[in-house]
Amino acid sequence: MKRILVTGGAGFLGSNLCHRLVRDRNNEVIALDNLFTGRLENIETLMGESNFQFIKADVCDEIDLPVDQIYNAACPASPVAYQKSPTSTTKTCVLGILNMLELATRQNATLLQFSTSEVYGEPVVHPQPEGYRGNVNPIGIRSCYDEGKRCAESLCFDFHREFGTKIKVIRIFNTYGPRMDPDDGRVISNFIIQALKGGDITVYGDGSQTRSFCYVDDLIEGVVRMMNAPQDFTGPVNLGNPGEFTICELAQMIIEKTQSCSKLAFCPLPSDDPTQRRPDIALAGRMLDWQPHIALSEGLDRTIDYYAQLLEAKRP
Ligand code: UDP
Repeated sequence: MKRILVTGGAGFLGSNLCHRLVRDRNNEVIALDNLFTGRLENIETLMGESNFQFIKADVCDEIDLPVDQIYNAACPASPVAYQKSPTSTTKTCVLGILNMLELATRQNATLLQFSTSEVYGEPVVHPQPEGYRGNVNPIGIRSCYDEGKRCAESLCFDFHREFGTKIKVIRIFNTYGPRMDPDDGRVISNFIIQALKGGDITVYGDGSQTRSFCYVDDLIEGVVRMMNAPQDFTGPVNLGNPGEFTICELAQMIIEKTQSCSKLAFCPLPSDDPTQRRPDIALAGRMLDWQPHIALSEGLDRTIDYYAQLLEAKRP
């Protein structure tokens, strides 16, 4: 039996990971979440499973339990959500990983940190390899998340060097798919919900900024491979889909797929919104034999189905 703790286990990535891990009956999965952005409905079908347990708690609060592996996915990840209480975001990033690193060290467990492409900030190297040190504004509205996640990476490597803690760090690029909160505020959930309801598609700025979107099942496969990779491979390693699209291209695809009558509405671009982003995933290919398989078009079809069902279920 392997005891696995997933912090942020009711969130978008955390819950998808729990569903994947619970399928293996040799795993005992404990999901921890304070339900700030996580949602119980993401894990309700797991509640009856004998190898699954949910603990409502904050990742920053002290906890002791026997574990072999810790996936630290707890943190609001949508700009709208993490900017609601920026000081809480920094605390979750920094105090949360500190707490989990202490637990991992005590338990001799392996800790995998969910880091982010946001550590690259507004990148001047494109695509971004892991060796690129980034271009982050330390005092902007995104810095609570960007610097919080950078500090978390730094703590992981210092625990590793100082105490021999077993760590692994992944940098996740924009990921989408089922179980993302419809009110999450990120671009794919926003556009799909807007298109399905026939409302305006809110394009921030002129829509020429780019992102590279990874379907959640591909991402989770990479996450699990990284956890189970040889101990000396700590990362950081990029996980994402290198297919790069402008936000206007994305809007157009979603309008076509949903056959929506929605029109584009151009809104002000939030400050420090990165102009371009695309992962260099050569390292993940080499070390984890991993690459994404689900193209944006197919992933959007699946995600549109998910949100269409969700809206249908909510209809009075
Ligand atoms: N975006 C947009 N309309 C929205 C939400 C987001 O045009 O309703 C843009 C946003 O400005 C950014 C891109 O889409 O350039 C991706 O935003 P998201 O919040 O999904 O992720 P992140 O900025 O963290 O990559």
